Amino acid sequence: MSLLDRVVTRLSSSSEPVPFERDWLGVTSAPARVLMADSDWLPDAAGEDYCPRCGSSIGIGEFDGTSCGSCRHSRLPWGRLIRLGRYEGDLRDWVHEIKFKRNDHLARALGRELGRQLVRAGIGSGDVVPIPTPALRRIRRGIDHTAGIAHGVCRTGAYRIRRHLKRSYRPVQRAVAPSSRRSNVSGTFSARRRWLGAGIPDRVILIDDVMTTGATMRAACRELKRAGAKQVVCVVLAVVDNPQRQ
Ligand SMILES: [Zn+2]
Repeated sequence: MSLLDRVVTRLSSSSEPVPFERDWLGVTSAPARVLMADSDWLPDAAGEDYCPRCGSSIGIGEFDGTSCGSCRHSRLPWGRLIRLGRYEGDLRDWVHEIKFKRNDHLARALGRELGRQLVRAGIGSGDVVPIPTPALRRIRRGIDHTAGIAHGVCRTGAYRIRRHLKRSYRPVQRAVAPSSRRSNVSGTFSARRRWLGAGIPDRVILIDDVMTTGATMRAACRELKRAGAKQVVCVVLAVVDNPQRQ
């Protein structure tokens, strides 16, 4: 058996990195395909498992073709939301792998799955905008996780990554009380000047990892619309079921 065959066999049969990966390459988690192959997880279906307008989990018949009981009387700054699932189980573990173990391959693999969902929804092209992470936090984490997801999305259709937004430093949303999250992100996003006016397309696909209260997405959407976008499609790996979202 060649060295390559042995490496492939080892990677295919284990969810842990082999010693040379851990010691020499700094890899602390398993390859994406191994993690995902070990799971019986499947992406949620829009309109059946979740509301394609607000992203909330729904029961049978709860989505009426336009909205669900959670968002029927809400004004949302985005037109459509696509998610892979609830923030729980394997999907929650994978989000942690991406952000805290720097698993960029997993970010791209899940991004490709999001891209397939976008294509299925008839949104096969457009500018993909990752929610920016403040530079200091990006350096400290060692990964630009939303960019990794966005790169994965771009493997599936006629998408292109465009960093239309920049973000000033604020405390992370999960460190702030849900009731204060809207004010914590208020004014934190600004459209890059070179994209203002003719540069920003009518439709923008906005990428984030997890939506909790929706405050981050709302702030980013508003800034994109202020800069000229007519329609924003929000795309997230996972949604925390939360009645305070609207
Ligand atoms: Zn809804």
